[in-house]
Amino acid sequence: MNIFIMGAPGSGKGTFSSRIKEEFDLNHISTGDIFRANIAGGTELGMQAKAYTEKGLLVPDEITNNMVKEYLSQLSDKKNGYLLDGYPRTLDQAKAFEKMTEGTDLMVDEIVVMDVPFDELTRRITGRRSCKHCGEIYNIYSKPPVKEGICDKCGSELSQRKDDNEESLKTRLEEYAKNTEPVIAYYEEKGMVKRIDATAGIEEIWPVLKEALSK
Ligand code: AMP
Repeated sequence: MNIFIMGAPGSGKGTFSSRIKEEFDLNHISTGDIFRANIAGGTELGMQAKAYTEKGLLVPDEITNNMVKEYLSQLSDKKNGYLLDGYPRTLDQAKAFEKMTEGTDLMVDEIVVMDVPFDELTRRITGRRSCKHCGEIYNIYSKPPVKEGICDKCGSELSQRKDDNEESLKTRLEEYAKNTEPVIAYYEEKGMVKRIDATAGIEEIWPVLKEALSK
């Protein structure tokens, strides 16, 4: 099973990706996580991506497509497939991905879209904290850790993403409306999209999402 998980920033892609990958034993590829790891590691890819991600702009398609291609080609254990989180975000990426996977076992077969009203996203994004070590995601309003600033799972320090501020968020939402909504419309026309109402709490959404992916 090869899945794209799509949705606006703060719609729960990262939170649910960690559950989906475990439940269905998938390779999880998050383009945002890869960019952040490369920026932290000071790699060439990181240097190319830094200015864009900090402003909330999309990294150019060519850089992103090449990175995804390389990741897919390196998957030695294919597990039950992949979960691509945060990609494709433009029509150009969607079409490049089709070209790169056509006729292979890497073609996408499920697309889930996490739907959350735009006004709820700001609260989610500004309250988001994540573990530097294991990547577990918290929210100081809706899913606080037991001990402030510390990960419940592994005891490491929690941090806030540099782009999780209101200014970057505005740009990220604009990018989403301009570039990513047309991608969803493109897949909707092909009848491939499953929309999940992701407004409720994690424990209410999870069974619905799991059921949608099991069909
Ligand atoms: P995310 O963690 O998915 O919210 O992504 C964080 C940032 O990484 C985005 O705001 C973009 O700057 C960059 N990014 C992640 N995925 C993509 C993509 N598919 N295309 C272009 N830029 C991306």
